[in-house]
Amino acid sequence: MVQLRIENLEEYAKDNNIPIMQKDGIEFLCKIIKENNIKNILEIGTAIGYSAIKMASVNNDIKVTTIERNKQIFDIAVKNIENFNLKNRINIINEDALDIDIKDKFDLIFIDAAKSQYIKFFLKFDKNLNKNGIIVTDNLSFHGLVYDDSKTNNRNTKQLVRKIRNYIEFLKNNENYETTFYSLGDGVSVSIKK
Ligand code: SAH
Ligand code: MG
Repeated sequence: MVQLRIENLEEYAKDNNIPIMQKDGIEFLCKIIKENNIKNILEIGTAIGYSAIKMASVNNDIKVTTIERNKQIFDIAVKNIENFNLKNRINIINEDALDIDIKDKFDLIFIDAAKSQYIKFFLKFDKNLNKNGIIVTDNLSFHGLVYDDSKTNNRNTKQLVRKIRNYIEFLKNNENYETTFYSLGDGVSVSIKK
């Protein structure tokens, strides 16, 4: 088996139009993990396993549980995780995140799946977050569309943009969390549970 490098996953994602986290976004997320001594992570939306591998690589005592509903891409992620020798620290589940019940508790939850379901993910997995835990969400800018109406004409895109704006409002009004928005990568929010 050829040992892959992280750059190989970045190239693969680019060539196949897989929306993995942008470089500054993932570096920012890894910094949060390091600075807050995060040990247990739940990720919604694995894709090819890029961000899960990056997060697990911050420290060798970090454990990641990651959920991916698409079987095809799930299979690729499984292979990548094996290739990076992280099978014992990354638990990957092939399910729709909204259909499963997870009992474990996590220090950090990373939401990076279907944008139309962000509020549902947040509400569903809130119970899985440890005290003082952090929820990070990706793609709140949606390629800049969320902040600029003139760029959107397609009806589905408009609907998605509306959903993301609703999610942003939801975070701002959520009194159980203190949320900060960062214009890094494709727009990242960090919500700290009070
Ligand atoms: N976090 C990855 C990128 C994830 S892309 C990285 O940065 O490397 C988003 C993924 O979420 C897609 O592969 C999609 O199939 C998956 N997804 C979307 N909705 C989902 C759901 N409800 N449950 C599980 N996976 C979902
Ligand atoms: Mg993303």
